[in-house]
Amino acid sequence: MKFAWKILVDNSLWSNFFTAKYIRNKHVSLVDSHKGTRFWKSVIQCIPDVLWLTKWRIKEGKVSFWRDWWFDEGPLVQLQLILERPNLMIKECRLEAGWDTQLVRSLVGDGKVEQVMQVLNKCRQGADLLVWSENADGKFSSKSAWECIRIKAPKNRWSDWVWHPCMPKKFSVTMWKAIRNGLSVDDRIKNVGIPVVSKCNCCTDGGYEDLEHVLVDG
Ligand SMILES: [Zn+2]
Repeated sequence: MKFAWKILVDNSLWSNFFTAKYIRNKHVSLVDSHKGTRFWKSVIQCIPDVLWLTKWRIKEGKVSFWRDWWFDEGPLVQLQLILERPNLMIKECRLEAGWDTQLVRSLVGDGKVEQVMQVLNKCRQGADLLVWSENADGKFSSKSAWECIRIKAPKNRWSDWVWHPCMPKKFSVTMWKAIRNGLSVDDRIKNVGIPVVSKCNCCTDGGYEDLEHVLVDG
């Protein structure tokens, strides 16, 4: 997601290269996410998530009128049909003195024109700003992005104990593997279809080596 964010806001050699190669004049949300290198596909597939969590604060107006999210309720394309000028940039709605209300009215209709004009009238000088909605300062961070996309499972009762900072990591990992049935005992090898003669190392007689035996009975 970090790279997807960079594509949207950075003016670096890196982002300019990928923009020129894959995005060109298209809106970033319309780029085919199945084309390109594996790296690029992983970047472009994150774009919808990033767009969903960001909003433009318009100043200069180099922002898509229809497809970028600058209007409070969402990108205009999601609120109504695009009847004309699908590639319109906001700055193209500017006249020498103020905004072209007639044009905006013809695009969004009487119902929405006032709301849209309210946003446009708030524009100040400067460069457009993409605001990351998950951080108070509006800046992207991988941590907050991860919090947004991760699948949250209920907290395990054992996890605090297993991953306790005082516990040597080697022990924690072994316990975690045991809980997940990932320790390579003979029983597990047999279960995946490899015939083995099992004899444990923990007893003098040598018992059948399964998880229960190694950790409890043996
Ligand atoms: Zn044993």
